[in-house]
Amino acid sequence: MHEMSLVQGLLAQLNELAREHGKEKVISVSMEIGPLSGVVIDSFQFGFDILAKDDALTREAKLIIESPPAIYRCFGCGREVEALQRPERCSECSETLFSPQGGDGLILRQVEME
Ligand SMILES: [Zn+2]
Repeated sequence: MHEMSLVQGLLAQLNELAREHGKEKVISVSMEIGPLSGVVIDSFQFGFDILAKDDALTREAKLIIESPPAIYRCFGCGREVEALQRPERCSECSETLFSPQGGDGLILRQVEME
């Protein structure tokens, strides 16, 4: 499960942030995980629940995950569709080729510490 190593990376990042800012506890962490990032959100949450408890800094931290829809741009007419999955075909021109725009991010949005 590669989400575990992503969570480990996140925790390392949080430790670094806390050290930089002289904080001792993470209250909440907001992440944005795009639908095309290849990250299974449930697995990420599960990994966080397990690994964060092992660390005094993040023991009580709350993980907030947002997953914005990706935007698919039609190759035929340029129409952009917001969707969680690649559309079958364009409702305007029946094109079946789409190029995804964004939605592949794994972004640390906000960290609340004290
Ligand atoms: Zn189209």
